[in-house]
Amino acid sequence: MTAGRASRWLLLAALLLAAPVAAQPSLPPNELGRVMILEYHRIDRPENRWTRTPENFRRDLQRLWERGYRLVALDDYLDRKIALPAGTTPVVLTFDDSSPGQFRYLEQGGDWVIDPECAVGILEAFSRAHPGFGHAATFYVLPGADPPNRLFNQPALATRKLAYLAANGYEIGNHTLWHANLSRYPEAVVRGQIATAQEWIQRHVPGYRPRTLALPMGGYPREVRWAEAGTVNGTSYHHDAILMVAGGAAPSPFARNFDPAHLPRIQAVESELDGWLSHFDRHPEERYVSSGGQPGSTAVPVGSARKVHPGVGVRRIVEGR
Ligand SMILES: [Zn+2]
Repeated sequence: MTAGRASRWLLLAALLLAAPVAAQPSLPPNELGRVMILEYHRIDRPENRWTRTPENFRRDLQRLWERGYRLVALDDYLDRKIALPAGTTPVVLTFDDSSPGQFRYLEQGGDWVIDPECAVGILEAFSRAHPGFGHAATFYVLPGADPPNRLFNQPALATRKLAYLAANGYEIGNHTLWHANLSRYPEAVVRGQIATAQEWIQRHVPGYRPRTLALPMGGYPREVRWAEAGTVNGTSYHHDAILMVAGGAAPSPFARNFDPAHLPRIQAVESELDGWLSHFDRHPEERYVSSGGQPGSTAVPVGSARKVHPGVGVRRIVEGR
């Protein structure tokens, strides 16, 4: 092969590699498939066990997009309102511990702008560039932690940030007041940690009720009901789901084994993400795939109607499985 031909081949190969990946060969709907709830900690440099770099976070979004994943709000997953185009798969993003790189403002010309290198900035830029991807995420914040984990570490902007999240399609979740491992404390402390965290969030966003709790270090209190609902000094909390720190892909909310008091997550570190993305590449039949959102219709593969959660009506059995 001549040098000229070789370089033409190289050019062609480079073009093919750079070309946007075609949409997934259309996957048949399977609304009993599993859903990844990704769990991020710090977005910062350098990459380590609890830190994803801005570049890698951007690449995660790109990999999800190319494989047909679309962001849904945790609320919508819990409410079984997954309104996605046919053939796409929901994915939920969560961010724990309100570290600075998740949501940072920069001063620019006398105004505050969202840092394009923080998680919120990256997510919003990616969503604008990829219409249909969505931009939902849940932030499990720590209102009473020591810096730098107290509400993203810009104290004067804490109210602005929480109000922004609440008003722009994000969710604020309870992660206790200062990251208490609830497995170690008596009932009064457990309930106090949860109620006070909510109260402190409400100082910034009056009336806001976090719908979910993420357990610091995955520690369940001795009785799960202490974390589910209660009232402390006039503050009432009620959680529709309790999220763990690990456990893999979550069940479909339509599945019989859906258990919102024990919702598993996938830690968004390279090895875990790679593992799960390739798992679903090899086993697309395990993935939740939307049927296109006909209201009141749950599309399940042939023979799996018994796996549907009691109370969820099956209106459509998908042929060919
Ligand atoms: Zn945490």
